[in-house]
Amino acid sequence: MILVTGGAGYIGSHCVKRLIDKGHEVAVLDNLSRGFRDAVLTPHFMQGSIGDRSVLDALFARWPIDAVMHFSALAYVGESVEKPAEYYENNVAQTLTLLTACRDYGITQFIFSSTCATYGDVKKVPITEETPIAPLNPYGHSKHMVELILRDFDTAYGIRHCVFRYFNAAGADPAGQLRERHDPETHLIPIVLDVAAGKRPHVQIFGTDYPTPDGTCIRDYIHVNDLSDAHILGLEYLRGGGASQVFNLGSEHGYSVREIIRACEEVTGRRVAAVEGPRRAGDAPQLVADSTRAKTVLGWQPQRSELRTIVADAWRSRAL
Ligand code: UDP
Repeated sequence: MILVTGGAGYIGSHCVKRLIDKGHEVAVLDNLSRGFRDAVLTPHFMQGSIGDRSVLDALFARWPIDAVMHFSALAYVGESVEKPAEYYENNVAQTLTLLTACRDYGITQFIFSSTCATYGDVKKVPITEETPIAPLNPYGHSKHMVELILRDFDTAYGIRHCVFRYFNAAGADPAGQLRERHDPETHLIPIVLDVAAGKRPHVQIFGTDYPTPDGTCIRDYIHVNDLSDAHILGLEYLRGGGASQVFNLGSEHGYSVREIIRACEEVTGRRVAAVEGPRRAGDAPQLVADSTRAKTVLGWQPQRSELRTIVADAWRSRAL
């Protein structure tokens, strides 16, 4: 049985659905601080914190867990700059408690949600896994710290792992059962679609003076279902005896904030008002993946990460 932490959150809930569709038994642990109970699609749910050892002991006693996918984390770049204590506590200290329990209960397969925010202001794109690590914000630091802990836990305790450095997760379940929901919402595509839907007056563009062709930040948007598929492939890889490895997961295409707004206008057929504003603290100008390793080692191939498909899935999921 697979334990999915953060299975009530955006990416975790989509991954749970994919796992169940493929016949896996799944248990979810989530404290519902940011996730939604109705997004948990497995009957095996426990509400609690990954940082609470008594919760973990009860969980491992209740279910025969043999692998862990660890999604739960605080994941807002801007918030992490203002509240680093919460980020290190949630993302690092509590993950250490989870990993220590994994060691004690003999878990040897662990899949970790990391981020392209570990790379920072890169000199060159696309970004490979060998690109130097230099996070610009506490969120990126917290994720990289866990990557280091994982390396040491593999050496000492034999916990083999896949680290997935996501680029910008986007899109939603094409069947419309799940959608992207954050409270508060800070992510670009849902905000732009809110404007298209008449739920916000405008989107603010965070910085127009970046060293990019149109002055706005460039990101690589990857469909949440493609991320989920990579996790399942990663699990099969570890079950087949694969060695611990770090993988970038991105579409390998970069789009500026202005290009995202335009794509949303095209897909929805609605005008989106945009207001130019200052840069947001902690943002890198440009993050675009080279995902060759995930493709060659895991056989991963994104299926729904063409930008218009991402936006169309996100837009449709709002109406359902
Ligand atoms: N962004 C923006 N306005 C918004 C939200 C985001 O201009 O209201 C920009 C943000 O600065 C970044 C990109 O859109 O360059 C993607 O941001 P998001 O928060 O979606 O993801 P992140 O890159 O922080 O993971």
